[in-house]
Amino acid sequence: MTVHFFSPIPLEILERAGAPRALQRDPTRAIYTNRNLDLSLIRSVGFDMDYTLANYHKEPMETLQYQMTIDYLVKHLGYPEELYRFSYDPNLSIRGLVVDKRHGHLLKMDMHGRVWRAMHGYKHLQKSEIDALYKNHKIKITKDFTSLDTLFAMPEASLYCDVINLLKNQSPKYGKIFEDIRLAIDTIHSNGSLKAIITRNMSTYIESHTDIALTLHKLRSSGKKLFLLTNSFWDYTQTVMSYLLGNWLSYFDIVITASHKPGFFTDPNPFKKMTFETQHPVYEGGNIHEFEKMTGFRGEEILYVGDHIYGDIVRSRKETLWRTCLIVDELPREIELSMRYTPDLDRLGQIDLERLDLDNEIGLHRVVLAYLDAAKMDAEAAQVRREMEQAKKHLVFLDEQMDLVQDALERRFHPFWGELFHEHHDLSRFGAQVRSYACIYTGKVTNFLHYSPLHTFRKKGELMSHDIQFR
Ligand SMILES: [Mg+2]
Repeated sequence: MTVHFFSPIPLEILERAGAPRALQRDPTRAIYTNRNLDLSLIRSVGFDMDYTLANYHKEPMETLQYQMTIDYLVKHLGYPEELYRFSYDPNLSIRGLVVDKRHGHLLKMDMHGRVWRAMHGYKHLQKSEIDALYKNHKIKITKDFTSLDTLFAMPEASLYCDVINLLKNQSPKYGKIFEDIRLAIDTIHSNGSLKAIITRNMSTYIESHTDIALTLHKLRSSGKKLFLLTNSFWDYTQTVMSYLLGNWLSYFDIVITASHKPGFFTDPNPFKKMTFETQHPVYEGGNIHEFEKMTGFRGEEILYVGDHIYGDIVRSRKETLWRTCLIVDELPREIELSMRYTPDLDRLGQIDLERLDLDNEIGLHRVVLAYLDAAKMDAEAAQVRREMEQAKKHLVFLDEQMDLVQDALERRFHPFWGELFHEHHDLSRFGAQVRSYACIYTGKVTNFLHYSPLHTFRKKGELMSHDIQFR
């Protein structure tokens, strides 16, 4: 990961090259690099719409979805009216969690698929309960598990916990509850009822920002062709994009709605040309192969910007050579908190080094002790044994210290789930997905405005554990 703003180059020159003053002191607006990306080689840039170009005001949007989902569950699926008394808690879950539909748990895993935190209803599971279910089982995301990939899934997770808590004494079927909530949410999305409310009250639910137009204009003016690739249908796309950009079609060389991502990257769905729009090419459906044939752009010439870790980023990186930029709404907050708690992070690093030294010391004591025991030098052995016990005690103390500092630090990110990108001295499942599949990532699409359209995003060479000894 590289930050692109601490630079000895005079500000005026940087600004002329497209990196403004603000970025030099504000890492929350930087674009971060996992894989080198030279924008001058990118000929076409594609954008997702929801939560990428169109940012929703989180709380009103999620509360609306939550309330409408409850309404559907009660009116159509026979759930108790008591649910109407619930209110949405936006802080119950975080993105990247996995739902275990067999047991009704929300899980947070590290990058290796090991579960470290779990919640059932409002109850936090103890380590022993987690170990009993998940230790020695690598979790694969099969039909019994669902990954919470987008911000649209936050009300779903929250409601799942509410319903499980409400029905806890009636031995409910956890899988069925999840499927019902998913059906309710999918229905309010697809039958237009949610969108009707959003489009009647655009400013309540969608952020508008002149920087979006400037960002697109800047990329276009460097000769790149822009396209919109969204799963939303035409009517909604048209309303939202008009709200954001006015004469929005003129920004895009091609527009694809109802694209069925990730299916767009994997299935041969045909393109359907929308005949009402004669000035601009607007399509429904489609697939990547025809897209590349139609536009003449291929593989690494295309950068796709989206917020859906699986549908936009993982699938496209696995199936294609398209370059990817992930929009992570939570990133600015995670960066701010990391900066604020740098002393704690330094302290953790220091404890880690002390532990390493102690491990070595204890290892050395073991060798010496074996020698002294063999030579029957009892007095000396007793002395070494005492020293070794002392060192072991100190190691336990350091472990406890580390847990205390680590816990306090993580609680500042989220009181239960901790950091979004990290878990237990490792990357979280979500963090690892971002690192593996997003070539670059940032908090908002408009952060491109701070970079030249010919900028090279470059990361430092990655070190393996053994490299650190020598470099
Ligand atoms: Mg999206």
